[in-house]
Amino acid sequence: MDFETLKQECLACRRCALCETRRNVVFGQGVPDAEVLFVGEGPGASEDEQGLPFVGRSGKLLDSYLEAIDLARDKNIFIANIVKCRPPQNRDPLPEESAACIPWLRQQFQLLRPKIVVCLGRVAAQQLIEKGFSVTKDHGKFFDKQGTLFMATLHPAALLRNPNNKPLAFGDFVALREKIHEVCTHTYPENA
Ligand code: SF4
Repeated sequence: MDFETLKQECLACRRCALCETRRNVVFGQGVPDAEVLFVGEGPGASEDEQGLPFVGRSGKLLDSYLEAIDLARDKNIFIANIVKCRPPQNRDPLPEESAACIPWLRQQFQLLRPKIVVCLGRVAAQQLIEKGFSVTKDHGKFFDKQGTLFMATLHPAALLRNPNNKPLAFGDFVALREKIHEVCTHTYPENA
């Protein structure tokens, strides 16, 4: 299956109750040969409206961090979410919603075969790295899971709420840039 076919199937998904309240399924955005996959928790209001991930204020902040290390969603990465439809009032996804949706992410992962997965915030980190993962304690560290490196950083929305943590997140992106140079083959043109 290719990315476009997967996307068309996903856009029609009704596997969990979030399909009742969504405006758009947010499949994800990026390039199909991305070596770095970013994963957030789920769409918010702007994302639900536009059908794209991280497009509100927190998306702008994320894009500025990405740009600082020469990454962009139209150039060399892919951005997806744990759940692809907006949970009402931006609550955390329920376990059954995450469980229903994660097979879509798994298929995206299988098509991309990324070298690095960056979890944006606690919900993604606890789903993808470890159940009790503490982003405050273990952000910026890389964990090798069956040959793929996983790292978590603070969610951009959390940084908007608490700007004092911005230097911590920026440090994570600097560490990410170093790791990309180390393990990726075409994310940066100089490594190609
Ligand atoms: S959240 Fe995921 S599983 Fe639930 S309806 Fe949307 S795409 Fe399907």
